[in-house]
Amino acid sequence: MADYDYDVLVIGAGPGGYVAAIRAAQLGLKTACAEGRETLGGTCLNVGCIPSKAMLHASEYYDAAANGAMAKMGIDVTPKLNLPAMHGQRIDAVKGLTGGIEFLFKKNKVDWLKGYAQFTGKDSVEVAGKEYRAKNIVIATGSSVTPLPGVAVDNDKQVIVDSTGALELAKVPGHMVVIGGGVIGLELGSVWRRLGAKVTCVEFLDQILPGMDADVRKDANRIFKKQGIEFKLKTKVTKAEVKGKKAVLTLEPAAGGDAETLEADVVLVSIGRRPNTEGLGLDKAGLAVNARGQIETDHDFSTQVPGIWAIGDVIPGPMLAHKAEDEGIAVAENIAGLTGIVNHDVIPSVVYTMPEIAGVGLTEEQAKEKGEVKVGKFPMAGNSRAKTNHEPDGFVKVIADAKSDRVLGVWCIASVAGTMIAQAAQAMEFGATSEDIAYTCHAHPTHSEAVKEAAMAVTGKPIHI
Ligand code: FAD
Ligand code: NAD
Repeated sequence: MADYDYDVLVIGAGPGGYVAAIRAAQLGLKTACAEGRETLGGTCLNVGCIPSKAMLHASEYYDAAANGAMAKMGIDVTPKLNLPAMHGQRIDAVKGLTGGIEFLFKKNKVDWLKGYAQFTGKDSVEVAGKEYRAKNIVIATGSSVTPLPGVAVDNDKQVIVDSTGALELAKVPGHMVVIGGGVIGLELGSVWRRLGAKVTCVEFLDQILPGMDADVRKDANRIFKKQGIEFKLKTKVTKAEVKGKKAVLTLEPAAGGDAETLEADVVLVSIGRRPNTEGLGLDKAGLAVNARGQIETDHDFSTQVPGIWAIGDVIPGPMLAHKAEDEGIAVAENIAGLTGIVNHDVIPSVVYTMPEIAGVGLTEEQAKEKGEVKVGKFPMAGNSRAKTNHEPDGFVKVIADAKSDRVLGVWCIASVAGTMIAQAAQAMEFGATSEDIAYTCHAHPTHSEAVKEAAMAVTGKPIHI
């Protein structure tokens, strides 16, 4: 250790980096974490998962009061929006959780190196003018918004914004145009639709939510339309001009054709995210990125340079906080000489709209490409709890291998799909068959009974339909 300042130096304190740093310290390694933001927690805690969920949760209450859902349960209310207070509780949530990571760093004796790190060699980085040498360096620099040529984001003006700007709008837009029908577009579009905006979603592909099961994508589209979001599928935005307090967008059919214009009070650019490697000095470390700008790693998260590791959004795979966290634990364990593994075949993904949309494993289309499958589907309209709670939309789908019955994928649309998907992920991690799930006793009345019924439907024997 004589020449080294640290056993482990993590670059970036998002869910990948801060978890890696804490686990490394727990394993007895002298650890530091460089972070340039003023608070720890990365995209997720500062401008991602947490503030978006704070706004989704609060706007859901407002919507339930405004759209008659509460009246249906015998509660007559006329909601009055206090947007500054709604933002206040978002800011409080972020403050509490980011401060919590600072506490955990102190508790576990992780040194926070305040500033942006840059490689100066294979085992050294510079942070805020000081050089540090470390036996192991973990790159966990995350991702940033992918820009759209011709559509310049300026969060301060609050006309053309990215997800960070869309979380902080000072007033409810009259018309919001969301570019990209992915997770961010649908979550943040839902927030402002619930609070009173007219929302139009422009999506390049022929359906929203790419990568998800086709049934889920179709039904989600139907549900969002019913909620009032207008979709322009197979359409691309080629230009946006800000004229006073409004933006004028030029839209073209994805396959080419006549252009049209669309006026908006706020435009949200949400066409994906790209890895953060600019300014990191990767060349000094002898590292290169792949065609998608990501740092490639082996299954143990080591890069091609010994002693340098990478995790989270900056490496290939879904850009999800829990994937980054699991990789953070695994990389620290591998550095410590243990065996840290992440099963990338079983990473759940959730869209936190109402209802929620969740999936794990293969889609039906992907599973069919690999071989013969059996599929069981159960509608939430047949689930007693969902019915009682006035939540008829959605379904659960279990996809199993036709011969072995092993579960290959589970997809759900339900008010609490994000919670329901955990049992599917656990079952798949244990190599469960659909019969295993079908014969597991599920508490009644719960939404999760729909997972059991969908598993029973794989052999054609659900009870409540
Ligand atoms: P990040 O969280 O991006 O953290 C990287 C950190 O590294 C940043 O703080 C950055 O400042 C720092 N950094 C970068 N370069 C340097 C440097 N050179 N030196 C020092 N520090 C540096 N995922 C979910 O699973 N669930 C959700 O509900 C969800 N909601 C989201 C909502 C929004 C609006 C957005 C934008 C994202 C959401 N995500 C969600 C995705 C999730 O935030 C990311 O997958 C996750 O944060 C990735 O973690 P990470 O540690 O790899 O990187
Ligand atoms: P995304 O990849 O989910 O969706 C982007 C969408 O934009 C796609 O449907 C794509 O076809 C479309 N698109 C691309 N270019 C376009 C164009 N020129 N015109 C119109 N549409 C276009 O990306 P996102 O919604 O920006 O989210 C970024 C990342 O953040 C995702 O990888 C996601 O995993 C993560 N995230 C996760 C959560 C969650 O887990 N709940 C929430 C928010 C963000």
